[in-house]
Amino acid sequence: MQNRITQLFGIEYPLVQAGMIWASGWRLASAVSNAGGLGLLGAGSMYPEVLREHIQKCQQATEKPFGVNVPMLYPDIDKLMDIIVEMGVQIVFTSAGNPRTWTAYLKEKGITVVHVVSSVKFALKAQEADVDAIVAEGFEAGGHNGRDETTTLTLIPAVRERIGIPLIAAGGIATGRSMLAAMILGADGVQLGSRFVASFEASSHQLFKEKVVDAGEGDTYLTLKELAPVRLIKNKFFHDVQRAYADGASIEQLKQLLGRARAKRGMFEGDMEEGELEIGQVSALIHDIKPASLIVGDLIREFEIAKKEVAGF
Ligand code: NDP
Repeated sequence: MQNRITQLFGIEYPLVQAGMIWASGWRLASAVSNAGGLGLLGAGSMYPEVLREHIQKCQQATEKPFGVNVPMLYPDIDKLMDIIVEMGVQIVFTSAGNPRTWTAYLKEKGITVVHVVSSVKFALKAQEADVDAIVAEGFEAGGHNGRDETTTLTLIPAVRERIGIPLIAAGGIATGRSMLAAMILGADGVQLGSRFVASFEASSHQLFKEKVVDAGEGDTYLTLKELAPVRLIKNKFFHDVQRAYADGASIEQLKQLLGRARAKRGMFEGDMEEGELEIGQVSALIHDIKPASLIVGDLIREFEIAKKEVAGF
């Protein structure tokens, strides 16, 4: 399968595994890259020296291209970028920040730069910043998300209408059918997060993976818009936040309730009650935990079957 995305990254299938804090370390990224997709290390939850170790291990585990996702809302971004350049990483996905901040610097170093957006406005900004491709992520997505609640079904054609550079769709995609649908809407490729959390190789806690498999329709919700909008599984912590809203909590009180390292506590340490559990709506369609290579294989098989069905319409 060859198109602008496979050519841009030098991969077999136009399929990217999202960078996810506490989930996508070297084991997951290298497994996805070895299976023909693009694996991303999620640098958000990594101290600089931890990122260095994951890059090294990923380089040892695969000869295929892989990248690093750097969400710009975490500390020490300068140090992370220095390590990325020093270690010869070829692909960087930036997110949760201004695409102008790092694009020119990274491109000067010969790095392919992709920026993640949740609206047409920011897609245009990213294109102006001269990124090589855009990930447009709809409301369905897990973790940090846009404020405007634009769904993938609306966002992808709207972004396609306005930008010319390669476009990767994200949010609500976990099957070969949804991959094909996103590409029919105008995307050149897709990015999947939630599906890869429920994999053998994700570094997430086993209890979190099982929670993802158990989640059904309506079990996630986008909240904490005043701080940074985030889609969470409705557990005790989520209900505490909702109660705080009902009591008219101020931003300061919400920050206090959130505290520090809630995401790590939930997704990495396995506290299913008090931790933050970030996952997409599509968790309702994920029924098993399996190796990343099988996830990629099944997706592509389903994509090909769906393509034949569509040809018969
Ligand atoms: P926190 O800001 O609560 O804590 C930082 C987490 O990142 C810790 O778990 C820490 O690991 C890890 N970490 C990785 N690298 C570094 C580093 N260089 N310096 C410090 N910590 C590091 O984490 P969240 O993931 O909850 O939030 C991330 C960002 O998003 C913050 O800026 C936060 O203010 C913002 N935010 C998040 C919201 C959310 O719902 N998650 C809502 C509003 C804002 P360790 O525990 O091992 O030290």
